[in-house]
Amino acid sequence: MQLLKDRIKKDGKIRSGNVLKVDSFLNHQMDIELFGEIGKEFKKRFEGSDITKILTIEASGIGIACITAQQFSVPVVFAKKNQTKNIAGDIYTSKVESFTHGRVYDIIVAKEFLSANDKVLIIDDFLANGSALLGLAKLVTDAGAKLVGAGIVIEKGFQEGGELVRSNGVRVESLAIIDSMSEENGVTFR
Ligand code: 5GP
Repeated sequence: MQLLKDRIKKDGKIRSGNVLKVDSFLNHQMDIELFGEIGKEFKKRFEGSDITKILTIEASGIGIACITAQQFSVPVVFAKKNQTKNIAGDIYTSKVESFTHGRVYDIIVAKEFLSANDKVLIIDDFLANGSALLGLAKLVTDAGAKLVGAGIVIEKGFQEGGELVRSNGVRVESLAIIDSMSEENGVTFR
């Protein structure tokens, strides 16, 4: 998606440890016009898939997921990163290793919000090593729901996640795939 690639080139900041900061339009301040275009692009790519629910993970996936969900007219469920007292009863759970923080945490979804009748599209901001996406996919599988695919805003193609998740049979649609990035040479796309 050219509009997104241009924005990453213009406003993305490359940090040590293979981290791309996109705080000015995606991860802190959010450019809602750009989000609208991203939502339309996901709609185009997953058109006809009969999606009943969008699943994402808190916090940075939620905004993108909501705008995409408007295109499909379906609810958004976001996996919570810790079990809170607000969720009582049965939950689906899996473990995710944080790429940016380097620790493992549990993610949960209440069973009442994912069922065997659901056709689920996962939406997330980044795909790096694939842990978040595989953790979300496990919640879908545990619920007996159908995983239609995953829509990713930025895939770091030089990390292993994309290959890992696709080799698990998951359809992944990434709007910008980064081939390489460095402070000296900037970002190159696939
Ligand atoms: P993975 O589980 O695929 O290793 O990492 C995906 C998650 O880590 C995403 O949900 C995203 O929040 C975060 N993440 C991974 N790489 C980056 C990055 O380069 N920049 C930012 N801002 N977040 C990232």
